[in-house]
Amino acid sequence: MAVARADIEEALKEAHLPALMAALVQMTGDLSWLRAEWTPVYNPLSRGDTGLPEEVQADIRRRAAEAIEAYLGGKPLQMLRPDHATICKQMDFVAGAPIPEQYVDFLVDELVLEERSTKDPHFEAPNLQQAARKMKVLVVGAGMSGLLTGIRLSQAGVPFEIVDKNPDVGGTWFENTYPGCRVDNSNHMYSYSFEPNHAWPQHFSPQPVLLEYFRGIAKKYDLKKHIRFETLVETLAWDEGRNVWRATLKGKDGKTEVVEATAVVTAVGQLNRPRFPDIEGLGAFEGPAFHSAEWRHDVDLKGKRVAVIGTGASAYQFVPEIAPDVAKLTVFQRNPPWGLPVPHYHEDVPEGVKWTLEHVPYYDKWYRFWLFWMTTEGFLPMVKSDPAWNATDSVSGENAMLRAMATESYRTQLADRPDLLEKVTPSYPIGGKRSVLDNGVWLAALKRDNVELVTDKVVKITPKGVLTADGKEHEVDVLIYGTGFQASNFLSFLKIKGRGGRDLHETWGGDARAYLGMTHPGFPNLFTIYGPNTNIVVNGSIIFFSECAVRYIVGCLKLLGETGAAAMEPKQAVYDEFNRKVDEANAGWAWGSPNVSSWYKNAFGRVSQNWPFGLIDYWRATLAPNPDDYVLERTPEPVA
Ligand code: NAP
Repeated sequence: MAVARADIEEALKEAHLPALMAALVQMTGDLSWLRAEWTPVYNPLSRGDTGLPEEVQADIRRRAAEAIEAYLGGKPLQMLRPDHATICKQMDFVAGAPIPEQYVDFLVDELVLEERSTKDPHFEAPNLQQAARKMKVLVVGAGMSGLLTGIRLSQAGVPFEIVDKNPDVGGTWFENTYPGCRVDNSNHMYSYSFEPNHAWPQHFSPQPVLLEYFRGIAKKYDLKKHIRFETLVETLAWDEGRNVWRATLKGKDGKTEVVEATAVVTAVGQLNRPRFPDIEGLGAFEGPAFHSAEWRHDVDLKGKRVAVIGTGASAYQFVPEIAPDVAKLTVFQRNPPWGLPVPHYHEDVPEGVKWTLEHVPYYDKWYRFWLFWMTTEGFLPMVKSDPAWNATDSVSGENAMLRAMATESYRTQLADRPDLLEKVTPSYPIGGKRSVLDNGVWLAALKRDNVELVTDKVVKITPKGVLTADGKEHEVDVLIYGTGFQASNFLSFLKIKGRGGRDLHETWGGDARAYLGMTHPGFPNLFTIYGPNTNIVVNGSIIFFSECAVRYIVGCLKLLGETGAAAMEPKQAVYDEFNRKVDEANAGWAWGSPNVSSWYKNAFGRVSQNWPFGLIDYWRATLAPNPDDYVLERTPEPVA
């Protein structure tokens, strides 16, 4: 394919140069692309600026265009498989700082730099294949994690059925259709590691694009034939004599059916059931009232007086969208969110970048690596609590520095509105709750003449509107709840009876726990994806967690197949020790800080949502199940 050098140079104008240079090492076999004077120097809040002078960047682009032109003209790739030392150099260069040695195998795997990934199931042995064919897995949910489970089970040759309450795939991306809904992780990272999309239209694409991606995945992997839509799994009961789960499914027509499964995988997310606030008078409002996750598109907001309760990640996205249309918007804030500057949050991916992703081999991988490193493990130290740090608005020196930078950005945007600045600046540390991405639209919306930010406590919902603690009744025509989800009520819609008829919810007593977020003593062959303590606050994409979890779950099925065991459940002591470590570690992060209240903490104040270690730790812990962690139950030999 011949492309003019000038066109290539033009396309590279917005490419991420360090990622491009790492890719060029492989294209040309020349390590001098990684020379010291071209090493990027990043600013933690400017996600991309390499700190290189413009003339140096132009020189790099010229040289790169020459190499790419030669490659496109037929010159073969010079380095298909860089050796370990070269990969380390590439990583250090792209990250702009040395990456600790223990990360290398993890990152190579996450990048899918080699043909084999630890996430691919390997069920080649004939006896294992035979055992796999006899299994049946019931997957609850056809969202991001459920589809992924279906793909991996297909690859392993394990029969499965997916059940979803919705009429289509996509889970959260099917349900959340509020205006402005979009992904808040860079899309080139928020995609399956094995299914990159070089055509994402935006860096953080809107919901319909995400839904299309997952629909495309379902089609490509022919998953729909395995999915029962508009069906609810209502109960699960472990049949001890036969070592199977009996599941009651309820269809749209109200009819129930019982199906049996060797194993059950729940893939329903943590943010699946809307949460309405515990406010007196809820339901009293006479006009239309709805939750952000159940957006009423039939309610025309044009020219109406609208109230929004909540200023979390959802409201942060829809408030700027609806503000220009409504007559008056009253936003009720209990705690403000922290916004971190991301100027390109709503921007299109430049055509040149799409071209580079598609045509320069390995650029996509190094670009993903850079996003992955900068926004995950590379960012984590900024929210780690320093026990010696004595402040309530930050948890360490680095965290205080981040606070200063974010506050400065707020100050600049609100130079003319000191009253608003005071209201929107959080008193809790960054990382205490999920930060939102600030490209200016949120504060611009709050500054509008037709928008009012109310910080007085909401005490009552009245037939006409919202009553606040100062005695004022805010009369409105429409009421929108941006009040989040029943996150810590894990699997609340599902009655689960395990060994001896033990009820999972009674066992939890409102304080859900699991081993590695996935397995539960007394509940054999039950696996939860995005279960207790597997959420991440600041670092990375939840798809990473799901990929690790599914690898582990498929590994558990493999263990059953290889050992001939019929059931497995974690040993109580292993589970207890894991949870002890999780609780201890969660206290060491901004979100575990006692002066932060958030959906990460359950009614007992315990952080039941978050993973308190690095991504690398989840990756290692989920490589494969350790048989010593489990009680494996063999089916008794038939009596002769
Ligand atoms: P959320 O972050 O839990 O926000 C709920 C909001 O409602 C908070 O501002 C909360 O205030 C407020 N609230 C709750 N009860 C209230 C009451 N009684 N009175 C006044 N205010 C009340 O929910 P969300 O915005 O739906 O987001 C949930 C999670 O979903 C996010 O953290 C994120 O992980 C995910 N999400 C992701 C995206 C994305 O990727 N694009 C978009 C949306 C959501 P307090 O802060 O005081 O509790």
